[in-house]
Amino acid sequence: MGESCIFCKIIRGEIPSATIYEDGDFKVILDINPAARGHALILTKEHYANLYELPEELAGKAMVLAAKLTAHMTEKLHCDGFNLVQNNGEIAGQTVFHFHLHLIPRYKDGDNRDLLTWNQITYEDGQVAALAEMLRL
Ligand code: 5GP
Ligand code: ZN
Repeated sequence: MGESCIFCKIIRGEIPSATIYEDGDFKVILDINPAARGHALILTKEHYANLYELPEELAGKAMVLAAKLTAHMTEKLHCDGFNLVQNNGEIAGQTVFHFHLHLIPRYKDGDNRDLLTWNQITYEDGQVAALAEMLRL
């Protein structure tokens, strides 16, 4: 998988990327087709297809890094908010099957307003309680 994976190629430096951060575990690049100015991707250096494969320790570190970067980027970009997006599976919109976390700056003026909107569904009476019971971990 690693051979043909586009993000593995970026990690190995075989494909150029606009890199804004790098450490032993992660490389953070600007998305080539951004949803907003400054849209960045936290990539793991090792190949994990998705969140289910990601070791717990790296999952924790990714969120700590996201917090650090969103604070830093807010200062630099003067954005007004951030969406963190992480897609798992084709139906969820995942197109590159190498774990990555999207950091998407949001701007009060000139924002991509329809970004991340969805139609709400409704529950029948009692459905939500039954679902919570079924899902309780
Ligand atoms: P996904 O849909 O899998 O959650 O997100 C994949 C993201 O990777 C997309 O937003 C896409 O624009 C970005 N992407 C795909 N190929 C490249 C590339 O070669 N370089 C960069 N910088 N981003 C890429
Ligand atoms: Zn990969």
